[in-house]
Amino acid sequence: MSSPLSKFFGGLKLPGFKSISMSQATEDAPLPKLLTLPLKQHIGHAAEAIVKIGDQVLKGQMIAAAQDYVSTPIHAPSSGKVIAIEKRLVPHPSGIPADCIVIETDGEERWTELSPHTNYRQLDASALRNVIRDAGIVGLGGAGFPSFIKLNPGPGNIINTLILNGAECEPYITCDAMLMQEQSRKIIDGLNIMRHALQVEYCVIAIEDNKRAAHTMLVNALQEHEAEYIDIIQIPTLYPAGGEKQLIKTITGKEVPSHGLPINIGVVCHNVATAAAIATAVLEGKPLISRYVTVTGEGVDHPRNLNVLMGTAFSELIDLCGKNSKAEEFIMGGPMMGFDVAGDSVPVIKTSNCILVKSKAEKTDYVMPCIRCGQCADVCPAQLLPQQLYWYARAKNFDKTQDYNLFDCIECGCCSYVCPSHIPLVQYYRFAKTEIWAQEEEKKSSDIARQRHEFRQFRMERKKAENEERKRQKRELLKKVNGEKDSAEDAKKAAIKAAMDRVKAKRETQSIAPENTSNLSEQQKQAIAEVDSRRKKVKEES
Ligand code: SF4
Ligand code: SF4
Repeated sequence: MSSPLSKFFGGLKLPGFKSISMSQATEDAPLPKLLTLPLKQHIGHAAEAIVKIGDQVLKGQMIAAAQDYVSTPIHAPSSGKVIAIEKRLVPHPSGIPADCIVIETDGEERWTELSPHTNYRQLDASALRNVIRDAGIVGLGGAGFPSFIKLNPGPGNIINTLILNGAECEPYITCDAMLMQEQSRKIIDGLNIMRHALQVEYCVIAIEDNKRAAHTMLVNALQEHEAEYIDIIQIPTLYPAGGEKQLIKTITGKEVPSHGLPINIGVVCHNVATAAAIATAVLEGKPLISRYVTVTGEGVDHPRNLNVLMGTAFSELIDLCGKNSKAEEFIMGGPMMGFDVAGDSVPVIKTSNCILVKSKAEKTDYVMPCIRCGQCADVCPAQLLPQQLYWYARAKNFDKTQDYNLFDCIECGCCSYVCPSHIPLVQYYRFAKTEIWAQEEEKKSSDIARQRHEFRQFRMERKKAENEERKRQKRELLKKVNGEKDSAEDAKKAAIKAAMDRVKAKRETQSIAPENTSNLSEQQKQAIAEVDSRRKKVKEES
C-alpha cells in the first residue's frame, strides 16, 4: 500500500542526545505526597472542578468536568483528599499561576469503579468517541488537542489514511521511543480502536530510521495482531519530521493547505502515546492519569524515562534522576520547541513529554542585529520568511505578520537555530501569536459588550416608545372622555342660560308699568309723583 516517500522543505540534521536517556527501562515514578492538577492541561477551555476542598477521591475519579466541546475532563491520578483548589504555578510559557486541584495522596491507590469496553467493535463511532472524551485523552505528542475531536471527521469528510506519529524528532526526547519499545502491543490496540472510530482502512505507523529497537518491537506486535492494511514506515531522521504537516507530506506526498487541516486532504494523524492512552481507556476503562516523561539534560546525572502520575512536581522527578550542580534551567519539552517553566515546583501535565534540565552554559545570551543572510528562510519547513515575520512581530505590526502567514509557523525553532545573529526568532512569533489571540479575545469581549450595549439601548428605546404610546393612548382616552364631558357641560350651560333668560324676560315683564297707571288724572299723577319722590328720597338717604 505504501508509496515512495516525499521530502518536506527545509529542516535540519540535529544532534540527537537520545541514547543518554534510553539506557534503562522505564519505571513507575514513586507516588508523591501531593498531586497538583491544573484545570487546563489541553488546547481549549479549562475543565471545571466538580469536587470541593475536603472531599475524598478515588484513583481515576473525575474531579473536573469538560466545560465545552473543545475541553476534556481531569481525573484523580491517585486516591486521597482534596486539600486545595487554588492558583498554583503551572508549566506554561507565561509563567502565570492557574487554577489547580491539589490532592494529598493516602498511599492506598484505591481505584474508582472502571467500565472497560473490551468488545469495542460493538460500539458505534460516536459512543467510542464519548468513551475517549470521558477518559480525558488529548494529543500526547505535545499539542494537547482533545483526541475525540480528531476522531470525528464530520459529515462530508472521508478519511482514507490514519497516520500514527512515532517520529520523535526533537533532540533529547525519548519517551515515545521507549513507549514503542515497551508498549508496542498497546499502541497497535489503540491504532485499531482509532481505525474503528474513523472507519478508515489504511493506517501507517511512521517511525524515524534511527529508532531500530522500536521499529522491531512494532513489527513483532503487528505480526501478532495479524492486522491488515497497517504499514510501518521508516522515515529519514530529519528535524522536524514529526511535525504533523511535514509527516503527512513525507508519507503521502500531499501538502496540508495553509490555514487548513489534515482532514481536508483525507488524513488524520495521532501520536503513538495517544494511541496507547486510548487503548488503556477503552480496553481497561482507565482514564488518562499518567504518562511517560523523559527527564534529561546536563543537570541530571541519570537521564531516563519514567511513568509519571499527572500532577507530580518536576522537582521530585529531577531529584529522582540525580539533580546535579549544573541544573539551572528547566524546560518542558525539547530544546527546539520547549519552553522555560517558572521553576521546578510545576507539575507534570498531559502534554509534559520531557523535562530538560539545562545548565547556564547551554544557553546563548548575546543577540546581534539581523544581517539578512536568509539562512532562516532556507531551513523553514513551513516555507515562510522568518526574517520578515521577525521584523513585523518586533514592530508589533500584527496585521503584517498575518499577511506573512504567521499562523502557519509550527514554532519548530529551525530558524532560531541557524540564525548567526542568535535572534530568538520563535519567541517573537510566540509573542505575536499571543498578542493576536489576546486582541481577538478582547475584540470578542468588546463585541459582546457592544452587542449588550446595543441591546440595552434597543430595550430602553423600545420601553420609551412603549411609554410614549401608552401616554398617547391615555391622552386619546382623556380627550375622548373630556369631549363627552364638554358636551355635557355645554348642555348644562345651555340649560342654565335658558333658565336665566327666562328669569330675565320675566323680570323685564315685571318692570313694565302697570296698565292701571294709564289714563290717570292730574291729581292722581301728582299724588303718585309725590309718593315716588318720597320713596326716592328715602332710598337716597338710606
Ligand atoms: S538567519 Fe537571522 S540574521 Fe539571517 S536573515 Fe534570518 S533573522 Fe536575519
Ligand atoms: S519556527 Fe516557524 S518560522 Fe521558524 S523555521 Fe520553524 S516554522 Fe519557520
